[in-house]
Amino acid sequence: MLILDPEAENAMRDHTESGYPHEVCGLLLGRCDAGSEMRRVAEARPAANLNLERAADRYELSPADFLRIEREARSRELEVVGVYHSHPDHPSRPSETDRLRAEEIWQSSESWSYLILEVASGGMASRRSWVLKQGIFAEEEIQVLPFRR
Ligand SMILES: [Zn+2]
Repeated sequence: MLILDPEAENAMRDHTESGYPHEVCGLLLGRCDAGSEMRRVAEARPAANLNLERAADRYELSPADFLRIEREARSRELEVVGVYHSHPDHPSRPSETDRLRAEEIWQSSESWSYLILEVASGGMASRRSWVLKQGIFAEEEIQVLPFRR
């Protein structure tokens, strides 16, 4: 289950809508409680999408941004618990590219949430979250609740 802080959700909405019609991406910072499948998100942090050539349907999260945001999270006793990206005019289901990328690049992160936000005609239309289990994406429930340490 993914639990989103309402402000984090608003930040993602702004980011995905202002980036439209391009695909934008970022990281979810929060806590993953030990022994639980529950990821609690405190903040959503935008990262650069390096894939400018096909920015409408591909994203490539900047590794430099990843390191910077991860370091910052650690210093505040948070961790990266997932990644989000937008699907401009496309349903919030992971594409085959998303699956391959999750497998290849984020291989060590089977416990991450992959949140996808659909933006239709410039407005957020839907959001769904996915977890990778042995190479297959399964949908997880999303709840919106204020983050508490
Ligand atoms: Zn995608």
